[in-house]
Amino acid sequence: MTKPVLYIVIPCYNEEKVLPVTAPMFRDKIGSLVNNGKISSKSRVLFVDDGSKDSTWQIIQKLSSENEVYEGLSLSRNRGHQNALLAGLMEAKGLCDITISIDCDGQDDINAMDQMVEEYLNGAEIVYGVRCKRDTDTFFKRFTAESYYKLLRKMGGEIIYNHADYRLVSSRVLNEFAGFEEVNIFLRGMFPLVGFKSTCVYYERHERLAGESHYSLSKMFALAFDGITSLSIKPIRMITGMGISFAVVSLILIAYVLISFFCGTTVPGWSSSLISVCLIGGIQLISLGVIGEYVGKIYLETKRRPRYIIAEQTYKTQKTGNADADEETEEKPE
Ligand code: UDP
Ligand code: MG
Repeated sequence: MTKPVLYIVIPCYNEEKVLPVTAPMFRDKIGSLVNNGKISSKSRVLFVDDGSKDSTWQIIQKLSSENEVYEGLSLSRNRGHQNALLAGLMEAKGLCDITISIDCDGQDDINAMDQMVEEYLNGAEIVYGVRCKRDTDTFFKRFTAESYYKLLRKMGGEIIYNHADYRLVSSRVLNEFAGFEEVNIFLRGMFPLVGFKSTCVYYERHERLAGESHYSLSKMFALAFDGITSLSIKPIRMITGMGISFAVVSLILIAYVLISFFCGTTVPGWSSSLISVCLIGGIQLISLGVIGEYVGKIYLETKRRPRYIIAEQTYKTQKTGNADADEETEEKPE
């Protein structure tokens, strides 16, 4: 059996502090997997520079000129972690047999890669990295993250508990995944939808080796909300359910009001009307907001804008339709 070519895909945004520390760790991991005869020596580390404002791209270029194991591509601007990762995976799929996506900050234990590759060799097409302990996360992060996974599952999102974006995916799966053309992407919830044989590998999550987290509280909530709304339409159903319950309650109330009216026991009742106006008004606004969120998503989807634009890369691009077009334009001036 020929050995699979592995690409480790790593999104990086303003990571000049941590990249020089972790890059050799990824290189050595590829080296040891090659030495153990698990993967092909054509395996690479592919960095995706997500429009960094510091010297991240220069560091990637330098690494790649010094050692052929490092490759890099740079996006035309910052597009966020999910899009950067997607760009890397879509580029890698034509160049390798398996990809492993991982953050560049050393939080995820790279030694789990051995087991991931082993699972692939045993027939799994997707191997999810699952955090078994979150001791190094703050109580707040742990609590919000874990409750979120539970909520998302209740909403019908097929998601692996405590799995983020550390996973092995074969090019076979990626080729099918390329058909998922939505612009609102939440990768960890989308891969289970592709299917194929999958399994989990457990690891401990460490602290960042250097630099700072890019996920502010507001970004975390945005990702969490995007996750629910791109995987499930249950919130809309819940609104319908709420509407029905309120309608039933109103009917009972109307009957009560009418009976009171005919019995002549009506009171001015301004407090109860005020309460109901406020309550219903509030609920209506929330409901409109939730529905609006989906309408907004539809709006973004209909535009079909590219999810990322590659500005530069350290490797030669494959000869595709576009490459031919480039040659044609070069010939024109003659
Ligand atoms: N990242 C990215 N684009 C962004 C923000 C983050 O590519 O706009 C990368 C970042 O360089 C890192 C990974 O996504 O490799 C995870 O980010 P971070 O470690 O800041 O998040 P946390 O682990 O704190 O959730
Ligand atoms: Mg991190």
